[in-house]
Amino acid sequence: MSRAKLQGLGIELPLFPITAVGSFPKPDFLLKARADFAHGKIRRGAVEKAERQATEFWVRKQEELGVDVLVDGEMYRGDMVAYFAENLHGFEEGGLVRSYGNRYYHKPIISSEVHWDEPITLEWWKYAQGLTSKPLKGILTGPYTVMDWSFNEYYPDRRAACWALAQELRKEVEALIEEGTKVIQIDEPAISVRPEELPLAIEAMHILTDGLPAYFIAHICYGAFEHIYPAMLELPVDNFDLEMSNSRLDMLELFKQSPFTKDISFGVVDVHTHLPEAEPVVEQRLRRALQLFPKEAIWVDPDCGLKTRTAEEAIAKMQAVVSAAQTLRNDSDK
Ligand SMILES: [Zn+2]
Repeated sequence: MSRAKLQGLGIELPLFPITAVGSFPKPDFLLKARADFAHGKIRRGAVEKAERQATEFWVRKQEELGVDVLVDGEMYRGDMVAYFAENLHGFEEGGLVRSYGNRYYHKPIISSEVHWDEPITLEWWKYAQGLTSKPLKGILTGPYTVMDWSFNEYYPDRRAACWALAQELRKEVEALIEEGTKVIQIDEPAISVRPEELPLAIEAMHILTDGLPAYFIAHICYGAFEHIYPAMLELPVDNFDLEMSNSRLDMLELFKQSPFTKDISFGVVDVHTHLPEAEPVVEQRLRRALQLFPKEAIWVDPDCGLKTRTAEEAIAKMQAVVSAAQTLRNDSDK
């Protein structure tokens, strides 16, 4: 349990802290601005203005809903790996490949030594954090996933590429912390795909986080957890943010066999369905979590980023998350 760590960082949170995983849908005016920019019709500055407006919309919306630890909504990102590849030295844009579902992205190519020159997400974090008095997470895609979702044409092997990325991305973590970020989420969706490489992902996380004063969350989605649990608990983070609902809480069976030792951000709504789950369904999921984890260790959020939903759907899903957390808070007051 890491309540003491959070308090040490000056963060007081209610029971069942409510958070979001990272992305929210981009409003129509932003999609139009991005398309216009891609066609050379408007300047970069005009897109950034739309990105700031959209960021402000989602920060205000989260406050209104009652979220405790906010996100900036990632209005300025396209693909979660390509965004970092575009902003680090050493990458070239590769051809289109298919990722999960029907989404296509340009798979980046590591073509020379990777290097971090200047902060990538920091200005956005500062802008979004400046809009709210609640803590706002810093979020970056982890070195293992950036390595796994890129072609490596420079480093001798995957380990060397992953280590180099971890060393460079640590500079982003340090820059965030220096400006006051206390809660930092590392997105590592690729971690569960090659169980034999879990030790490498753990080494990379050490390089990224060791000795740094922040509360670290690892977000891992859609994976074969039976192959990496409980070994994944060795990741040096305070909290695991997991996609629980899409797999009908299957993972709870694993946690029964071998106890979970960290805080958990428990995904209580599926991000792949359009309709928001009914309140009792979400509440029931959270009650199942309570049977296994101490209540002080549970954070509540959607399974994953909500960027593929419409704004209305995303808001309805967040509402379901908030009301479940609030119901359980009220119960535990009794
Ligand atoms: Zn996810």
